[in-house]
Amino acid sequence: MSDTSRYHRRGFGLKAEIAQSFREHYHSELVDEIRANGFTLRRGDLTIRVAREFGFCVGVGRAVEMAYETRVRFPDRRIYLTNEIIHNPQVNEHLAKMGVEFLHGRYGEGRGLDAVSSEDVVIIPAFGIGVQDLEALRRKGCVLVDTSCGSVVNVWRHVERCALAGFTCMIHGKADHEETKATCSRAAAIENGAYIVVRDIGEAMLICDYIRRGGDSEALRDRFRGACSPGFDPDRHLERIGLSNQTTMLSSESNRIAEAVRQAMIDRYGEAALDEHFRSFETICTATQDRQDAMLELCADPSIDLFLIVGGYNSSNTTHLAEIAGRHKPSYHICGPDCIVSAEAIRHKPPGGREETVATGWLPEGPCTVGMTSGASTPDSDLGATIRRLLEVRGIPSGPED
Ligand code: SF4
Repeated sequence: MSDTSRYHRRGFGLKAEIAQSFREHYHSELVDEIRANGFTLRRGDLTIRVAREFGFCVGVGRAVEMAYETRVRFPDRRIYLTNEIIHNPQVNEHLAKMGVEFLHGRYGEGRGLDAVSSEDVVIIPAFGIGVQDLEALRRKGCVLVDTSCGSVVNVWRHVERCALAGFTCMIHGKADHEETKATCSRAAAIENGAYIVVRDIGEAMLICDYIRRGGDSEALRDRFRGACSPGFDPDRHLERIGLSNQTTMLSSESNRIAEAVRQAMIDRYGEAALDEHFRSFETICTATQDRQDAMLELCADPSIDLFLIVGGYNSSNTTHLAEIAGRHKPSYHICGPDCIVSAEAIRHKPPGGREETVATGWLPEGPCTVGMTSGASTPDSDLGATIRRLLEVRGIPSGPED
């Protein structure tokens, strides 16, 4: 087999072959109806208002379609995913049922790359994978189907350019998120490349303080253990910073971080020397931005009593939508319809929390307006099923099943 037939960055032209199962798994008639009705559903004394941008983004839709096409294209081959294709349990479970096995992560059963042989097909998720893993898979000679999203690849290009120019790559992101791990690996792959990941404005301010006044380098290194490159030296590596973001972060916070680091560099080196010490690239992806903007628009509706945000608990973009909603009204980040236990109790992940918890008395009696959205990795079928469950616990018929 030639190299070109071993590496696939596009689908296999099998959209027609996967259309039926894709529709069965991810489509919702009810959600279509809500879209057509100005993003609003009124049933009984319940009004549901859905954000104008929600659900699968282009990058996620493409990645999942490519995985389905891979199954059709290679019916007799063992197919692996390096990790969850996207952060949505239902999507990963559908793929598992189709015989796709996982190498890492919660579905990986400890397999790892050693399980892969040259006869296998390996799908790379929308978040991408690290440079070392990619090289290891190339050496195996297996078929690679690379669904890395173009917006993620765009961050890698920025990071590589920064590292080549001698800037330390500062990434506003989550150090344990697959996308950010893959991004860090791009900086580390450049000779003398260094990186540091800041999760939020609080962590960014620690870096800003060090830029301005220096301090205990050992303590700072300890504070960012696991989130900075090996041998990170704050005195050397915080002299020149190129900032970018994980694509799914809260854009308002990314902007605050950029401004804080820019100001710290001015304070330390003077405005005239800023370009030598600081570069910033806004790499929040359009889909994330659109969903956050639509959420903010929904939050401005005073009639809404509470919000339900539907999406995987490990989905970064969904978590940020819940964070935005939670600043305005009671907000519940739920991963699907089963989280609505009853009109009295709901299982959800609180903002900033790690564990699912149960809230009671969440749904007011009498006329009520619920604001809803779903993350970029959440199919319409999940949102539709959640709306049906909400109607069900209120004793309101939801119409024929999707
Ligand atoms: S959320 Fe953005 S970066 Fe992630 S898959 Fe969608 S478009 Fe790509």
